[in-house]
Amino acid sequence: MINNYKKIVIKIGSSSIINNKTKKINSKWMTRLCKDIEKYHKDKNIIIVCSGAIALGSNLIKKNKSLTKLEDKQAAASVGQIELAHQWRQNLKEHKINIAQVLLTLEDSEVRRRYLNARKTINTLLTNKIIPVVNENDTVATEEIRYGDNDRLAARVAQMIDADLLILLSDVDGFYDKNPTKNKDAKKISEIFKITRSIEQMANSQTSSLGSGGMTTKISAAKICMNNGCDTIITNSAKKQPLNSINRTNSSIFIASKNSSSSRKQWLLNHLHPSGFIKIDEGAHKAIKNNKSLLPAGVIEVGGKFSRGDVISVYYPKKEKVAIGISAYDIYEARKIIGKKSKEISKILGYEGRDEIIHKDDLVRTI
Ligand code: GLU
Repeated sequence: MINNYKKIVIKIGSSSIINNKTKKINSKWMTRLCKDIEKYHKDKNIIIVCSGAIALGSNLIKKNKSLTKLEDKQAAASVGQIELAHQWRQNLKEHKINIAQVLLTLEDSEVRRRYLNARKTINTLLTNKIIPVVNENDTVATEEIRYGDNDRLAARVAQMIDADLLILLSDVDGFYDKNPTKNKDAKKISEIFKITRSIEQMANSQTSSLGSGGMTTKISAAKICMNNGCDTIITNSAKKQPLNSINRTNSSIFIASKNSSSSRKQWLLNHLHPSGFIKIDEGAHKAIKNNKSLLPAGVIEVGGKFSRGDVISVYYPKKEKVAIGISAYDIYEARKIIGKKSKEISKILGYEGRDEIIHKDDLVRTI
């Protein structure tokens, strides 16, 4: 099923790579996976996003107790990450493949300058036939500014490097209409072309034993990829050949729409943590539907904490998110000019600003 893809991000969940009881690396499984990786590495670009640092380090931080405090998880991650990288290096060395460790924080995908920087680094590794092994930099990531799950991190990495396939290796065979561990009549959906509200609701109840993601974050990841022309496969890792034997019966595939919006707009569309929001009126909503800019006159409310150049959400009517864009003003300026005509801006602020609060080139509709 994966032969025709060229750039593949493989996300490995904690429950696949770590033995739940011993909290040690599942080495037999890793050996099998690396054999498969060698096969595909020859004529494709492979990127690994691997979880497990916190689970691996947890034994040394608090023996046999689950970690709840952030500082415990951060400390565990710093212990476990060395082990994780070491295992990848050893295992892939057997196949004469070099690896690199890439630790990212949320800001590396959300701040455009850093995003472009991370993209360059990863692409340089790929050009040199080195496999990047990516994880979140859990040791410095804090509760408010972290992905928290590697599903969405992997999707942002896939987007960053224009991958055409994301494989989420997990402990489930794919996406079911109900939680398969609780419902015998749960049915697997093999192909999904659009993530609707009902698909999101089906995902809500399905979690896994070790990782922090569950099905909800897998669906979010698939959504990010689908917006970027990248397909997503969810499959069970517990197969003899974890990659080679992926087929329709043991996986679900989310097929991407081949849209052609610019990479800047795609980056915007998949932004995970907008700094603030604006609410707009009917006229402004019509304007953005006709691909026009958002003027202060059509804004009825602003909120959050944002500076000029930050990403903000656009709501219409009150609760529905209709767009996302880059604000030309900070929140204090925005508060003063909303509802006002653009020609009044210079008088109100005391300097010449842009006519638009979000220019059409910096705006992308979400529905
Ligand atoms: N970054 C976390 C770790 O390495 C994993 C997050 C997740 O479970 O998705 O432990």
